[in-house]
Amino acid sequence: MSSPVRPAHAWYRWIWASLDWLYPPRCAGCDQPGSRWCVKCQREVRRLDPPLCPTCSQPVSISGKCSHCRISNPCIQRVRAWGEFGGALRRAVHALKYRRNLALGECLASHLGDLLVEEGWQVDLIVPVPLSSSRLRTRGYNQAALLAYPLSLAMGISYRPKVLMRTRETQTQVGLSVASRRANVQGAFAADPSVAKKRVLVIDDVITTGATLHECASALMQSGAKEVYGMALARAV
Ligand SMILES: [Zn+2]
Ligand SMILES: [Zn+2]
Repeated sequence: MSSPVRPAHAWYRWIWASLDWLYPPRCAGCDQPGSRWCVKCQREVRRLDPPLCPTCSQPVSISGKCSHCRISNPCIQRVRAWGEFGGALRRAVHALKYRRNLALGECLASHLGDLLVEEGWQVDLIVPVPLSSSRLRTRGYNQAALLAYPLSLAMGISYRPKVLMRTRETQTQVGLSVASRRANVQGAFAADPSVAKKRVLVIDDVITTGATLHECASALMQSGAKEVYGMALARAV
């Protein structure tokens, strides 16, 4: 991380380092003991580097929007994902999603911090993509928050998970076509008026088509946000 370590973030990292000492971790990508995320798995990640579609982070051959975003023209300012969803990174995302690996979230969020510095986006608030209340009840936590919270601590940006809500249940996006994914999340979010005139960064674990982030952006813009950006750990390519 290129920014200086802030006290709240240092404390948060210290807690996880102490737990690692008490209970030696295993790598979320390959299950080898010794670290939460090993050097081998880190090297295996295929970073998504430009040229990428500016509004969904899909690799494109010439810089500019992808064919989907050219048609749908989402109201999100920019979107960036760190790595290709596959191999060790896919296993790590699953560990966040289904095994509540908080320490791993802390570790992987540093890559989002690096991307934020690289992109130079200026944002006022960090918000995770919300889960529906019923899914939150069954899972007990929101995996996007496991990335968004440590990112906010590391960057010294206000964390505001409650300003964006799901207004209705949506089907899981897994296995749906591009058009059905869009229809599935359309109008599924609402934002608090306190986002007015703010630049908001929305964090998700995985981007598949960008439909979820685009719907979050449209809810935030409707509540008066000045600009909305999106970031995710991985993107399906
Ligand atoms: Zn590993
Ligand atoms: Zn696109």
